[in-house]
Amino acid sequence: MKCLFCEIINKKIPSKIVYEDARVFAFEDMNPQAPVHVLIVPKKHIATVLETAPGDNELIGYLFQIANRIAKDKGIAERGFRLVMNCNKEAGQSVYHIHLHLLAGRPMHWPPG
Ligand code: AMP
Ligand code: ZN
Repeated sequence: MKCLFCEIINKKIPSKIVYEDARVFAFEDMNPQAPVHVLIVPKKHIATVLETAPGDNELIGYLFQIANRIAKDKGIAERGFRLVMNCNKEAGQSVYHIHLHLLAGRPMHWPPG
């Protein structure tokens, strides 16, 4: 089954790459919801949070380390930023390969929409 984010990770579909290493790929969201909107994606295909297993704990934690690094690199760490991972339809998940949204550069509202 074709996965959009696997194709982006494999560079079959172009993206604006923000960060890449052996385990993680991060790129600009094509429909940004804030001045900074980066998607941080594990290279391992995991469809939703519900498919994560204890063996993925280190990888999931690593996504947050990359978010930390990108936030500092983009100069928005001190102002603040939001990290979001949507799961399934009602939460608004549209791509079924887990990804952490890093949003920043404007005031964020709570509760989210
Ligand atoms: P979600 O709705 O949480 O699954 O997030 C999916 C995100 O992927 C959305 O914010 C989309 O704007 C973004 N997106 C979809 N296709 C692409 C693409 N080809 N390049 C960059 N971002 C994309
Ligand atoms: Zn995938």
